[in-house]
Amino acid sequence: MKDARDQKIPYKIYLSESEMPKTWYNVRADMKNKPAPLLNPGTLKPMTAEELSGVFCEELVQQELDNDSRYIDIPQEIQDFYKMYRPSPLVRAYCLEEKLQTPAKIYYKFEGNNTSGSHKLNSAIAQAYYAKKQGLKGVTTETGAGQWGTALSMACSYLGLDCKVYMVKCSYEQKPFRREVMRTYGASVTPSPSMETEIGRKILAEHPGTTGSLGCAISEAVETATQNEGYRYVLGSVLNQVLLHQSIIGMETKAALDQYGIVPDMIIGCAGGGSNLGGLISPFMGEKLRGEKDYQFIAVEPASCPSMTRGVYAYDFCDTGMVCPLAKMYTLGSGFIPSANHAGGLRYHGMSSILSQLYADGYMEARSVEQTAVFQAAEAFARVEGILPAPESSHAIKVAIDEAMKCKETGEEKTIVFGLTGTGYFDMMAYEKFHNGEMTDYIPMDEDLQAGFEGIPRFPGNME
Ligand SMILES: *Cc1c(COP(=O)(O)O)cnc(C)c1O
Repeated sequence: MKDARDQKIPYKIYLSESEMPKTWYNVRADMKNKPAPLLNPGTLKPMTAEELSGVFCEELVQQELDNDSRYIDIPQEIQDFYKMYRPSPLVRAYCLEEKLQTPAKIYYKFEGNNTSGSHKLNSAIAQAYYAKKQGLKGVTTETGAGQWGTALSMACSYLGLDCKVYMVKCSYEQKPFRREVMRTYGASVTPSPSMETEIGRKILAEHPGTTGSLGCAISEAVETATQNEGYRYVLGSVLNQVLLHQSIIGMETKAALDQYGIVPDMIIGCAGGGSNLGGLISPFMGEKLRGEKDYQFIAVEPASCPSMTRGVYAYDFCDTGMVCPLAKMYTLGSGFIPSANHAGGLRYHGMSSILSQLYADGYMEARSVEQTAVFQAAEAFARVEGILPAPESSHAIKVAIDEAMKCKETGEEKTIVFGLTGTGYFDMMAYEKFHNGEMTDYIPMDEDLQAGFEGIPRFPGNME
């Protein structure tokens, strides 16, 4: 056992119920350059609240457009739901530090302690709550790997809302257990493309036998929401409102660190659409934006889907079906199809507009990592810290370990905080590939990326 173990800091820092955040923090309020607004793809004008409310719940539209309110009250019902599985622990990774023999102090915020197994429940309950409050019958959504669909099913069953999930057909077939968890919580799960929607029938007629894509599932979910009275569409990442809800992660982390006077040097998180990372760093980023403190923020993405490190900053479609508004973001193009990377939650072609703006303005960094190295880090972590991490989360572990090893060389005692977004029980096929030495690292060539960039819309000021 490491002698220098810091007796004052417990293995896990938990907040008491009364110390839990009662507001979300909206980082946009402290950004000088606000994230670019969503555009109507037809008129290229900013989407109005009225246009958005055909697809999204009214209160969520307000949150989406609100660049000014610094704090937004968490409704009591949502606070009560949070109490069932929050606060999530902030863990001091003593065992990992010891294993690495690093002078760095490593902490991780663990979001996998709920049945859905990830942070996505933090926004799912908020979105379901506002749908219920509006008197809606239900919500529709898409799910790829299945984490978001699972979280939303849990939230909807709690509130008695109908939940229709379009699940990318290949995941539907390859991840039967995820599908059954959703059905246990009462969701209807349809493999996409399906015969239920016009767009699904069209895609099936054009590409018989296709196993689907996230973009196609989004189009089906949006169509079902807009064609059925009393339904709205909800999305689990990328949007401003989702980052806002996920700020609960950062608020808790900051409160826990403050109790012990711990000031992190760097905060690391994996980035798919950017919601967990955005939520984790939000209150710290606020301090940086206001010039009160300085932190290093690192977004970690797969080398196979490198939207920040190799993408372009432009307006692009959020979905392959091109039915959603245009968002300004770091993107690989909505037609970019990443190679099979086992971190399904990180295979999105774009990035949150908030994080994209902060990255463009130099407030944060991004790194891409290859999946074999990610699984090596995942396994090393599991063996000493016990938790079986999700492949997505393991991207953050990889960079946290890299940084801790740099500290070992330089002797610096940096304090590293990273987001451990979830558990990997449904990803054992990926672990199996890794153990059998069958995992490959595919990095797209510049030509592959160029093909994706071709699909980004051209208009004055965009890609011209
Ligand atoms: C969805 C997911 C992610 C990525 O989504 P973000 O919106 O970038 O946070 C990361 N980790 C897990 C476990 C996920 O389920």
